[in-house]
Amino acid sequence: MTDRPPVRIGISSCLLGEAVRYDGGHKRDRFLLDTLGPFVEWVAVCPEAELGLGTPREPIRLVHDAAAPQGVRLVTVKTGVDLTRRMRRFARRRVRALARENLSAYILKKDSPSCGLERVAVWRHADARERTGRGLFAEELRRQFPNLPIEEEGRLHDARLRENFIVRVFVYQRLRVLLSGRWKVRDLVAFHTAHKLDLMAHSVQAYRELGRLVAEAAQIPRAELARRYEDELMAALSRPATRARHANVLHHAAGHFKQTLDAATRQDLATVIDDFRRGLVPLIVPLTLVDHHARRLQVQYLTGQRYLDPDPRELLLRNHV
Ligand code: SF4
Repeated sequence: MTDRPPVRIGISSCLLGEAVRYDGGHKRDRFLLDTLGPFVEWVAVCPEAELGLGTPREPIRLVHDAAAPQGVRLVTVKTGVDLTRRMRRFARRRVRALARENLSAYILKKDSPSCGLERVAVWRHADARERTGRGLFAEELRRQFPNLPIEEEGRLHDARLRENFIVRVFVYQRLRVLLSGRWKVRDLVAFHTAHKLDLMAHSVQAYRELGRLVAEAAQIPRAELARRYEDELMAALSRPATRARHANVLHHAAGHFKQTLDAATRQDLATVIDDFRRGLVPLIVPLTLVDHHARRLQVQYLTGQRYLDPDPRELLLRNHV
């Protein structure tokens, strides 16, 4: 059992199987419901239904208009009713209200003119469109919560992107829990220390820069420190970890066994890490070996690393990359 508060994730309602789409259907996503669902609390929002457009309803789309804010308008396809102002006003209010929901992430339905995050169709003429848009609700979400991990359900079917997203969600939740309480500088230092290997896997440069920030923490006003740390950490984690960087992290971790492991065992470990680098085994194989040696030899720096013990175990993170 853990006393950690539940991870709350905002989500486009149709992905949970709610029949709120314009055609009266849904887009139930099995991975989200069956695999991720048991570990999170969903906060479902359907912007179009909540706006009062009804279900079923006339489909809507983004239309290019250079004179409109962000260059787009949201209009109904057949009757040409302009919903831009209504949706933007609704989105501002609804997203502001989400601040009370303690969200650690948001999952959006791709391609939707309301919910889509990237490459949403923007129509220039009846038969010409460009995939350059962002749904109006998604745009407001990104504006008000720049550090919140946000993904589209389609991208979560890619193992590497999915793993990256889940890591960001749980790191963000741990950081928000820390920063929303009565924290001391030493608590932030402990948090940073526990996430060093995670950070290295995403960006060595950010790992160094955040290390400098934390080293100077006592001289920085707390509100500024918290803001800068969160901004820089979440920006760093949004860069996907690569196989090469994971391998470098594992070699770095293995360096802690220089004095305590015999040469043959160190060579075995190096071989397994290189097998991973070449794509012959998944990350979980060298990771388990490093974790095993760290616990057996009681290397405190390593046993305290979240990287070696990702949340939640049952999601089998590290098995698919
Ligand atoms: S994509 Fe968004 S607006 Fe469309 S049905 Fe799903 S939740 Fe509602």
